[in-house]
Amino acid sequence: MILNTIRECDFSGKKALVRVDFNVPIKDGVVTDDTRIRAALPTLTYLLDNGASLVVMSHLGRPKGKKNPEFSMAPIAKRFSELLGKDVQLANDVIGDEVAKQVSSMKAGDVLLLENVRFYSGEEGNDPGFAKNLASLGDVYVNDAFGTAHRAHASTEGVSHYLPSYAGFLIEKEVKFMAPLLSNPEKPFVAIIGGSKVSSKIGVLESLVKTCDSIVIGGGMAYTFLAVQGHTIGKSLVEEEYKDVASSFLAKAKEKGVQVILPVDHLCGTEFKDDTEAISVDAADIPENLIGMDIGPKTISMIVDVVNTAKNVVWNGPMGVFEFDAFAGGTLAVAKALAESKATSVVGGGDSVAAINKFNLADKISHVSTGGGASLEFLEGKVLPGIKALEKLK
Ligand code: ADP
Ligand code: MG
Repeated sequence: MILNTIRECDFSGKKALVRVDFNVPIKDGVVTDDTRIRAALPTLTYLLDNGASLVVMSHLGRPKGKKNPEFSMAPIAKRFSELLGKDVQLANDVIGDEVAKQVSSMKAGDVLLLENVRFYSGEEGNDPGFAKNLASLGDVYVNDAFGTAHRAHASTEGVSHYLPSYAGFLIEKEVKFMAPLLSNPEKPFVAIIGGSKVSSKIGVLESLVKTCDSIVIGGGMAYTFLAVQGHTIGKSLVEEEYKDVASSFLAKAKEKGVQVILPVDHLCGTEFKDDTEAISVDAADIPENLIGMDIGPKTISMIVDVVNTAKNVVWNGPMGVFEFDAFAGGTLAVAKALAESKATSVVGGGDSVAAINKFNLADKISHVSTGGGASLEFLEGKVLPGIKALEKLK
């Protein structure tokens, strides 16, 4: 997968239509977490330093195709301007005559933020007319919104049919770290997959089993696998309808010579509650009345050992109910193992990334993906429409 990147374009005197992910939390008209705005700054300042003017666009929340002041980009324009250290004009619409007029009077170095692209149903519907209208606001298109790259929307895919299209630094980095995991990872390659459900992670397991040497299965989904191996799982999470899928996955891994590591001990509770007493179970089998809520110390040390042999590790999905402090230990241990490892480490998935941030370990990981759903689909080996739109040979 070779992308056109912004390094390959001369932006001098050009209007760059840039799709970013400014879908940030807002409370009482104030941005409460500006991480995503900061993340887009390297690309945006690079474009400005290279002589462009910027027409910046993003979605915010779910206004469902209608103009709704509740979902206005106004609070974002303010924070964006502070972080960029220069004036940012906020357009009063996404497309239309007034916006076109504002854009035509822009000079190099000017920055205009469009209103919420989801004020129009043509955005999520990827309507060609709407995409063409958006495209008319720029000379070139830059996409740096990895988090929405799995959606074929007008601002993430449609516009690329009308303008020369380039990947910003964020998307470039995502692809640089994730694409090799599916084709030629450095070996040994270890995949650690957790989370609540087999149904939502089976695609990733099936995809990574093709390239990995060892695969750790933890979290709530592990109990379905343990059950098909004949272990008792007490009252733990189980997806009866996925038992066949789980057992054929185990057979496939065996056939390929891929080591599968499942929990050999657990931390359990009697109720699925924050204050349930944490009970250690020093065996793979879980007694009848207990719920498996985290991996135990023996499992943790197996994971640490396998991570220490790895050259490349990918982690998606928490090892336990990390939202409850008593059951966060397994997830914390995996996060630490990755942070301390010399391997190239990649973390993707909304909750796993939240866990890494909660433990303040993000800067010790080679790559923390900026997209939850998008990174999952990428690891499943699916074609992401927003990425495909930036490929050299479409
Ligand atoms: P990600 O967002 O990283 O892809 P998922 O959304 O698949 O991860 O899974 C995260 C959820 O899995 C968390 O809310 C966590 O509480 C839950 N989970 C982990 N282990 C268990 C368990 N043993 N029982 C029930 N839920 C679990
Ligand atoms: Mg999740």
